[in-house]
Amino acid sequence: MSLLTKRHVVEGLKRAREAGAREHRDILPTWCPGCGHFAPLQGLYEAAERMGVAAKDLVVVSGIGCSGRFPFFVKGFGFHSLHGRSLPVATGMKIANPALTVVVVGGDGDGLGIGGGHFPHAARNNFDITYLLLDNSIYGLTKGQASPTSPFGMVSGTTPFGNIAEPLNATTLALAYGASYVARVFSRERDDCTEIIADAMSHKGFSVVHVLSPCVEFNKVVTYGSIKQRIHELPAHYVPDSRTTAITYAECEDPVYQGVFYNQPRPTYHDHMQAIFDKVKQP
Ligand code: SF4
Ligand code: MG
Repeated sequence: MSLLTKRHVVEGLKRAREAGAREHRDILPTWCPGCGHFAPLQGLYEAAERMGVAAKDLVVVSGIGCSGRFPFFVKGFGFHSLHGRSLPVATGMKIANPALTVVVVGGDGDGLGIGGGHFPHAARNNFDITYLLLDNSIYGLTKGQASPTSPFGMVSGTTPFGNIAEPLNATTLALAYGASYVARVFSRERDDCTEIIADAMSHKGFSVVHVLSPCVEFNKVVTYGSIKQRIHELPAHYVPDSRTTAITYAECEDPVYQGVFYNQPRPTYHDHMQAIFDKVKQP
């Protein structure tokens, strides 16, 4: 573990304590030291604390993978669901009890591979939930197989001669599918993680945060160093109101932009259903 990543973890935990985030902290995380997932976890602690979400009103839903452990580390309700099925489980919870704050956490394999068919429907229905897609471009829990976001040519356990498929871009997909809020953040930028997760959770509608979250154990290609070389803030003049402009910036590979690409609230699934209920009730 490099000094940089060690400091990252130690400061992250210290910072979480200083932020008084005890309300939402539970079991200490069991991820590898330096894993990218620590920063979004801390971001969730601080965001929930800042928003005053009581533990009894918070639900964290995950699928399978290293990101799947997320609910264990958060005080609140949690559901470690089936591989790729976190979104339908979460949307069901939100429909059953719209007062809950529902956060879904999944990885690149869970969300774009096995569960890829659920992502567009959660987005187009605009369920009022937040989706943290932790992207490390590898299947980490199973020790290093190419995932849907692994770069072309990447050597892995399942691609010994190099990956022959082009990677998916989670930010672009979220935009194309119709999410009403889409952001991307590098997990090395701890404060940015907190700010963006808090912003996404405050958004009314389906909010997606694509977290570039390196796997320090099994991905030696997509790393803190390789991302740091290309990551850049969206331009100061950028306005997140155009889906087509957002997709242009999301597709850019050098630099890879981070920030809020799109933020345009529109009626949620619940708003539409309420309107139908009201109409049906009318004499
Ligand atoms: Fe994180 Fe990779 Fe370790 Fe899983 S295997 S906890 S993704 S560093
Ligand atoms: Mg992964």
